[in-house]
Amino acid sequence: IERQLTHRAAARSVSGLAAVLAHEIKNPLSGIRGAAQLLEQGITDADRSLTQLICSETDRIRNLVDRMEVFGDERPLVKEPVNIHDVLDHVRRLCESGFGRGIRFIEDYDPSLPPVSGNRDKLVQAILNLVKNAVEAIGENKAQGRVVIQTSFRPGVRLSVQGSDMRISLPLMIQIEDNGSGVPDHLKEHLFDPFVTTKPYGTGLGLALVAKIINDHGGIIELDSEPKRTVFRVLLPMQDRASTQNSRSSPR
Ligand code: ADP
Ligand code: MG
Repeated sequence: IERQLTHRAAARSVSGLAAVLAHEIKNPLSGIRGAAQLLEQGITDADRSLTQLICSETDRIRNLVDRMEVFGDERPLVKEPVNIHDVLDHVRRLCESGFGRGIRFIEDYDPSLPPVSGNRDKLVQAILNLVKNAVEAIGENKAQGRVVIQTSFRPGVRLSVQGSDMRISLPLMIQIEDNGSGVPDHLKEHLFDPFVTTKPYGTGLGLALVAKIINDHGGIIELDSEPKRTVFRVLLPMQDRASTQNSRSSPR
């Protein structure tokens, strides 16, 4: 169903990007201004809800700006040895106490996984986006919902690059699988582009951000989806191989 795709008009161009940003920022700003005006007029009994509104709308802009910052950030990653399971534990805590409440999480970790050379905060952000999408794809029917997170060590991966098979070494794998809606075929090709969303209030920035972060880590991300089963696979190099120069990744 082609209509499901809300590819926000021409957002891939710079002017389109500016238009989307303007829109996303103007809405909360007018809310904040309205609330400030009411406060100024001294409508005291509503003070609390007005200050709450100011806070939540400010947060919205803040979130947006945070995401834009990640895209705009051209500096090389600040890297340190990162334990992937710490990252996953952190994401899981965020998830279970918030947006993922009521969904069953299944962990299947390979404890022998060596650390990656990376940026912990960015990796948390990437995995969080993937898990959030999985939860959102499950939707209302949370009791049936299942998110399986697996880690494993795979010494070699076969990749098909421009028709020729090659072997590269991206041995660390994080796999996030859900039994939600699935990704329609026509969407798969553009899923990692910015502003591609099927959600009424989606930004379409999540996967673009994930792709950038994984790319900056010298890794790749793969998507495998059919109705009721979606798998995102993140493959990362081992600690000494990670390189910011690496532009191998071209997410599908
Ligand atoms: P957003 O979540 O704001 O829509 P994303 O870039 O995170 O933006 O995701 C883009 C789109 O990809 C989503 O709107 C959804 O249609 C699709 N998608 C992402 N992850 C999944 C998933 N696990 N299952 C089904 N569809 C997904
Ligand atoms: Mg998302």
